Amino acid sequence: MKHKISGLHHITAIAGNAQKNFDFYTKVLGLRLVKKTVNFDDPGTYHFYYGNEEGAAGTILTFFPWENIGQGQAGNGQATEIGYAVPEGSLEFWTERFKQHNVNFGEAAERFGEHYLPFTDPDGLNISLIVPKVADIRKPWETAEVKQDAATKGFHSVTLSLDKIDDTARILTDIFGYSLQSQEGNRYRFAVDTVDNANIVDLLEQPGTSRGRNAAGTNHHVAFRVPNEEVQMAFREEIQSKNLNITPKIDRDYFYSLYFREPGGVLFEIATDNPGFTVDEPLNELGTHLKLPKQHEQLRNQLEEFLPKIK
Ligand code: ZN
Repeated sequence: MKHKISGLHHITAIAGNAQKNFDFYTKVLGLRLVKKTVNFDDPGTYHFYYGNEEGAAGTILTFFPWENIGQGQAGNGQATEIGYAVPEGSLEFWTERFKQHNVNFGEAAERFGEHYLPFTDPDGLNISLIVPKVADIRKPWETAEVKQDAATKGFHSVTLSLDKIDDTARILTDIFGYSLQSQEGNRYRFAVDTVDNANIVDLLEQPGTSRGRNAAGTNHHVAFRVPNEEVQMAFREEIQSKNLNITPKIDRDYFYSLYFREPGGVLFEIATDNPGFTVDEPLNELGTHLKLPKQHEQLRNQLEEFLPKIK
């Protein structure tokens, strides 16, 4: 049987200052830091994972905070907007909250019959809070200031900006199992029916728009979700059969990953549900310890000294 993708797994973006990033996502936006680790390929840099209580797939936004990286530029060949689902009636709360915290936000508007509020994080990353047509029943992480009636539920969608959408659309439909749902102007909405949430990818066709430059405030890659490594490897074969380069399976400690660049230029990952974030910390302590992969454990003393302290 042909497999389909189970929606989004995580999205990874680049930040500047680690403390600012932590403050914004945990305090202003009210997400949970579910893992504090390092970039496995560059262990002198943190890797932060923010999500719901257990860091469920489809709720995870991750960052590499590189202090001196400079400002990136969103553009074609990138994911250019992250959509979070929020409860009906919560956009006024968020507007007030963004005013109080000097968040750069735009006008609330409507797209595909759904109200949304666009804003940027401290590095300029584009995010929208979206009230889905069908209420999202995922249980959110709550904080003292962001309660259940307003808290983000996890991803609603991701938007990819492209010169031409055709080749990327074919990856979504022919390999991943998405189908075209609707179109508004140059925005094409694709969805997959394997899951109820985090199952939308919007392709924005903007010919001639400059390509994105990947630094602070831009997305690095989009990870799609599969239940296990067996399904993951079936996707690997299929992607190879289309003559696309794809990495071998890589152990990311909390999931297994494959990476490939889709023809429109966006870096895609296919990531497994297993083993999940509780593999090395109990649920109630997620994100409270610096966790290192075993290949970097011998660097612990230096890294604890070198990495900026997060309060
Ligand atoms: Zn990733």
